Amino acid sequence: MKSLNEELKEVVCIIKKYMEAEEISLGRDSLKERLLPPSGARPATVKAAKPTIDILKEEALSCTRCDLSETRTNVVFGAGNTKAALMFVGEAPGMQEDLQGLPFVGRAGALLTKIIESIGLKRSDVYIANVLKCRPPENRNPLPTEILTCEEYLIKQIEFIKPKVICALGKFAAQTLLRTQEPITKLRGRFYDYHHAKLMPTFHPAYLLRNPQDKKLVWEDMKKIRKELGANNE
Ligand code: SF4
Repeated sequence: MKSLNEELKEVVCIIKKYMEAEEISLGRDSLKERLLPPSGARPATVKAAKPTIDILKEEALSCTRCDLSETRTNVVFGAGNTKAALMFVGEAPGMQEDLQGLPFVGRAGALLTKIIESIGLKRSDVYIANVLKCRPPENRNPLPTEILTCEEYLIKQIEFIKPKVICALGKFAAQTLLRTQEPITKLRGRFYDYHHAKLMPTFHPAYLLRNPQDKKLVWEDMKKIRKELGANNE
């Protein structure tokens, strides 16, 4: 009876003979081609999906992290140029935004468009989002827990877009982003460092509709933004 060692030797011998026979009939290179992948070919790898703002949007559109998901009509993720140098951040969607799924539509939206155009840009040049992606019922003020739960989406949006300047529209956006309780009247009019961007708080367009006398202050803030952006249309 053969020992295990002898049996192994026999197997190795058979394989050797087979290889030699193949080399003779195909040539060494042909054998190599059969055993190795073609030159330039790389082993298959499983690629992890690269996170993008579209993936983030998909996630937000089905978000149920807070109770606002039960009363909203649409998630208002944000809209505009995802490579914008200027980003506007408001508070939360209102009734029209909730119905249309778009930020800053209606009268306040029309005024924001005028504000954007006042510094020589088009609405499609900028990106517009809110701190909250779902409308609070009856437009009540956002709750601190809702802001905390939803803020991650906004931070990621800012990280994807990498704007040079962020304009925080109104008290809630400014106070949320700057982690302060200072009133908007004290916060507006100067830049703050925020996530590698310059953040300028100013009045919300809805406030300006009720207080048109303050439009000139927003104009002052927008001129500073235009200068910061390097626009040459003073
Ligand atoms: S407000 Fe934000 S956290 Fe709450 S359900 Fe909507 S997307 Fe999700």
